[in-house]
Amino acid sequence: MAATADPDIAELARAARAHLARHRPLVAPGQAPRWPQGARIAVNVTADFDAMLLRRLLNEPPMQLAKGEFGGRVGIWRLLDLFAAHRIPATIFTPGRICELYPDALRAAVAAGHELADHMWEHHVPRDRQLELDHLGRTGAALERIAGHRPVGTRSAHTPSLLAAAGFLYTSHDCAAHLPYYLTDTEGAHTLLNLPFHYALDDAMFYSFAWLGSANPAQRITDTDRVLEMWWDAFRQQYAAGGYLNIVLHPFVSGRAQRIDMLDALFTRMKTLPGVWFATCEAVARHCLATHPRS
Ligand SMILES: [Zn+2]
Repeated sequence: MAATADPDIAELARAARAHLARHRPLVAPGQAPRWPQGARIAVNVTADFDAMLLRRLLNEPPMQLAKGEFGGRVGIWRLLDLFAAHRIPATIFTPGRICELYPDALRAAVAAGHELADHMWEHHVPRDRQLELDHLGRTGAALERIAGHRPVGTRSAHTPSLLAAAGFLYTSHDCAAHLPYYLTDTEGAHTLLNLPFHYALDDAMFYSFAWLGSANPAQRITDTDRVLEMWWDAFRQQYAAGGYLNIVLHPFVSGRAQRIDMLDALFTRMKTLPGVWFATCEAVARHCLATHPRS
């Protein structure tokens, strides 16, 4: 038995070593990053402004597209109001085409001090390298026309070398750790800071009914009180350890009334504790790059 497992274990060991070489933590295991003004935790509130683009990509029927549109017509505005009420600077990961669909909401986000970051052109990364470059350039230009500058962050599987060449500082796509870390591509040539998210803190995992045409058992509309307690527990654990939290929202998911209420309650609770640094992903990334440069 052992003899037949040995080659598999050797292969797993090689994979583990390769993973370690590509993922560099900011601080030694068990230590916490240093945040500005002695904060205990950095919190990135992020919103993936997919609206109907993601659903269109999957050729979903009009009723599902309309659910996505709710995000652009109502959800994003409710989130912007909520962020303003709590003075929370957020990062809006924005597909380039959203600039054509909902430019007013994006202008309002920028005017309120939020960050616009790349979330692909039409919510997918083309396999063809030249087309991918074209999509990345189009999104950058579209976001620049609204924000006044090119994005420095992405939530996508865009090729690291293209991102590096386009001046990106960070990605928020990989989820190999609970703290930010340096992520190097498989060629070992390009490194970006990764601000990790996880599906345990992603609204779509709790609230998405008919999520991407999923089968009946996958349907979920979790009680908002339950999500509030789960997310609060996650926050408390990271707060106690001295850490980082990346909350993933979607305007078409969290923009629903009772979910806005739940986020209001969550942010209110978080703010009762001292040393919580709410910041855009860009601010956290620039801080990490300056304070914990890649060794
Ligand atoms: Zn998305």
